[in-house]
Amino acid sequence: MAKAKYTTHLGMFDILPDESPKWRALENIIHEEAAKFNFEEIRTPIMEQTELIKRGVGQLTDIVTKEIFAFKKGDSNYVLRPELTAPVVRSFVEHHLDQRGGSQKLYYIGPMFRAERPQKGRQRQFHQFGVEIIGSDDPVADVECIAFMMQIYKRIGIKNFNLKLNSVGDPESRDAYKSVLRDYLKPHFDSLSELSQKRFDKNPMRILDSKEPEDQEFIKNAPVISDHLNEESARHFEKVCDYLRKLGIEYTIDPLLVRGMDYYTRTAFELTSPDLGSQDALAGGGRYDLLVQEIGGKPTPAVGFAAGMERLMIACEELNIELALPKKVDIYIVSLGDNARSWALTALPKFREAGISATMDYLGRSMRAQMKDANRENAVYSIIVGDNELEEGKFTFRNMHESEEESLSLDEILTKLS
Ligand code: AMP
Repeated sequence: MAKAKYTTHLGMFDILPDESPKWRALENIIHEEAAKFNFEEIRTPIMEQTELIKRGVGQLTDIVTKEIFAFKKGDSNYVLRPELTAPVVRSFVEHHLDQRGGSQKLYYIGPMFRAERPQKGRQRQFHQFGVEIIGSDDPVADVECIAFMMQIYKRIGIKNFNLKLNSVGDPESRDAYKSVLRDYLKPHFDSLSELSQKRFDKNPMRILDSKEPEDQEFIKNAPVISDHLNEESARHFEKVCDYLRKLGIEYTIDPLLVRGMDYYTRTAFELTSPDLGSQDALAGGGRYDLLVQEIGGKPTPAVGFAAGMERLMIACEELNIELALPKKVDIYIVSLGDNARSWALTALPKFREAGISATMDYLGRSMRAQMKDANRENAVYSIIVGDNELEEGKFTFRNMHESEEESLSLDEILTKLS
């Protein structure tokens, strides 16, 4: 095959017609489960202001320092959204969604963009679904968020995973912990990686998230935040754990889990799967009680998660889970000659109006070729039409799977099928 002149960008993929039914099936599951949880869908633009993402996600995060696709046009700085928490919060503040009353229980599905080094399960354009519950600091909200996330995997049949949980504390607990952490790391400062040295003053907790080999020894022996939570944060975390146990949701506590974004407070969680290989994170999230205010709104607690859809697809493949039924069409009209083609074209809408999917040949092919095409399209029935059939008003109606034929009028076929 000749090589195409134009291709997608590195790390960006087409979802081809053989794949798209799986995507739609997954999206349907997410919409259905979200409705059961009474979550409402929010759709925001693909592009946001660069400043929002820098503020929202954090100046020192990998996303902002290395991974955003950003450009200037006129006086505006555009960024392709790398995640949706900051944009959803922007929308919440911009449109005063708090005035709708109660807490806002929002969910989304859509593409995100990060200029990462592509590998299996890591793309430059990828898709996430996620939830943001804005306006509640009750542990019930944290747990509903986690329960929804788990429900999607449960419904699909992915069972082999590990839910890791931690509390990264509120500002008071974090300040106390950060100073303990700095005291512990200070004597080793010169041995830390360059990135960790940069994070030392502003956000030493992110050092715990470092993948750099030279940091690992210090991370392993670092003091843990759970020993430094104030009473309120400790109580909040205990409640989250307690509710999860009540729901029968298994978890392990991982004191090193701090997550990639700066905005998390208190609950942080990540769902990993051994079926995924090196990029094993299916989903992650947590509480972000400071973000709404950071973006210019009133102090408003919130919690959310985001899940990678490509990674979910990879897990399904590994586990031989079929998300979508094989493709099929109910009726394929095989037409021979001009009159028959014109009859076929006008018969199609009658089937479709009756809720029956129907198609015909567009290429004026031989009967044999059309029958072959009907098989390729996995047609359930075919209708064979030529001049003789038109004259008689009776058509060969063939059950493709059982290879049985009858001679019927169009009305009789319609009655039979409906
Ligand atoms: P994050 O927004 O970084 O917390 O990511 C949430 C989830 O999105 C991860 O657990 C992955 O499943 C997925 N994800 C993040 N980055 C990528 C990427 N570059 N390609 C594919 N999936 C990703």
